[in-house]
Amino acid sequence: MQYIKNYINGELVEPVSKKYLDNVDPSRGKVYSYIPDSDEQDVELAIAAANAAFPAWSITPKDVRSKYLLKIADLIEKNLDKLALAESIDNGKPLKLAKTVDIPRAAANFHFYGTGILHYAAYTHSMEDTAINYTLRQPVGVAGCISPWNLPLYLFTWKIAPAIAAGCTVVAKPSEVTPMTAYLLSELCVEAGLPKGVLNIVHGLGGKVGNAIVSSKNVPLISFTGGTKTGAHIASIAAPMFKKLSLELGGKNPNIIFADCDYDKMMATTLHSSFSNQGQICLCGSRIFVERSIYEKFKKDFVEQTKKLVVGAPLEEKTRIGAVVSQPHMEKVLSYVELAKQEGGTVLCGGKRANVGGEFSEGYYIEPTIIEGLPYNCRTNQEEIFGPVVTIMPFNKEEEVLMWANSTIYGLASTVWTQDLTKAHRVAQNIHAGIVWINCWLLRDLRTPFGGVKSSGVGREGGFEAFDFFTEPKNVCIKIN
Ligand code: NAD
Repeated sequence: MQYIKNYINGELVEPVSKKYLDNVDPSRGKVYSYIPDSDEQDVELAIAAANAAFPAWSITPKDVRSKYLLKIADLIEKNLDKLALAESIDNGKPLKLAKTVDIPRAAANFHFYGTGILHYAAYTHSMEDTAINYTLRQPVGVAGCISPWNLPLYLFTWKIAPAIAAGCTVVAKPSEVTPMTAYLLSELCVEAGLPKGVLNIVHGLGGKVGNAIVSSKNVPLISFTGGTKTGAHIASIAAPMFKKLSLELGGKNPNIIFADCDYDKMMATTLHSSFSNQGQICLCGSRIFVERSIYEKFKKDFVEQTKKLVVGAPLEEKTRIGAVVSQPHMEKVLSYVELAKQEGGTVLCGGKRANVGGEFSEGYYIEPTIIEGLPYNCRTNQEEIFGPVVTIMPFNKEEEVLMWANSTIYGLASTVWTQDLTKAHRVAQNIHAGIVWINCWLLRDLRTPFGGVKSSGVGREGGFEAFDFFTEPKNVCIKIN
């Protein structure tokens, strides 16, 4: 069986302790490789390597840095099949999704930031004939990048690429639940000849490796994507040390469907926004509010279409719903179905573990699930489930649905379906969320700021805002008279 390695100071190395953790293939429920159970010693080595690399990397001309990023993008594209297969096995997601979304997007992240850095500019401010102010944007130093399991390589590279493009060096920790594509990325970085220490990847548990990165006085910046509870813990350590902090956290996103929508487009996209990646995308719309006049039709069609989604082994072409990421996660998601029943909800379809048979009979599959009959303020409708489980609710008025939509502690993303332009803009303005999709979902220009409000996080990734985050502005004022 394969033993994954850490990537420290340009080399693929074993953890100092020589201890490993099981890495499980969720589609089979079986251990298929081992991941370093790294600890503070490995993190210290990685931070030392990143610190040593920083002075040279931070003044490496940006066109040279850019070339490394573009080379890595190119290698990801060349290895698309291998990476997609690895991600599908590691994560349980349909291979098709990994091939068409996750891995191309990882390449796009390197490409986007590798070219973007060539166009990133700072300001000058003239005080007429008294003085000139100019702002230097200098890389912050060693960046700590910590990412989750749901879109493993996509989200990992979304942090790493802007950090190294901006001139930071990086100590990164992928999720211990899905380490394989980060490991393959480290092999590609070796192949690309990335200077040693610029990127260091330490595998292992959040409480050990993640915590050591966040606690280190030699890591002045943390970019974290994951759960809200973990984010709060990280903030409690990082804030008193005055670290720069970006937190991309959980969501409980509303999907608001008005009666005047383009019904067929709405239905096709709502199936995706509800169940893509087994509902394990922080941007999935898990609370579906439907205007009462079309509610019964919507319910009938949505249930009918959902029942047709094939739950199956990730590598099968016809599979639309693969395995959820782990046994504990499957149990958590199913516990919410039980909670929904206790809260008075009716399960319209799904609601159970699915057995896809054969060698996959021990895999962690859940039938796509639709629940109705719950009030907006019950726990099922307030807490993040992060699985293939959605609730549907009829609404009467715009004010009412806005109040429901805004009632959770979260504010990451939202979707609005209407053909009424005025209403669309009005509702978009009044939703408390970092992202509003009108008549679409998951469409994004990488130049736009990405992130949430309230307990969905602080700070923005994406676009040039990422370069603002990974650099520190320094104002220089020169008297000219
Ligand atoms: P998680 O918070 O459990 O783990 C995320 C990462 O943090 C992992 O690498 C983990 O090992 C690490 N970690 C855990 N404890 C830590 C600690 N004490 N110190 C430092 N690091 C620690 O989240 P998850 O279960 O991997 O991911 C699912 C969550 O991520 C969901 O809540 C989802 O909404 C959220 N998410 C948010 C976005 C976004 O952009 N807002 C994107 C994807 C996922």
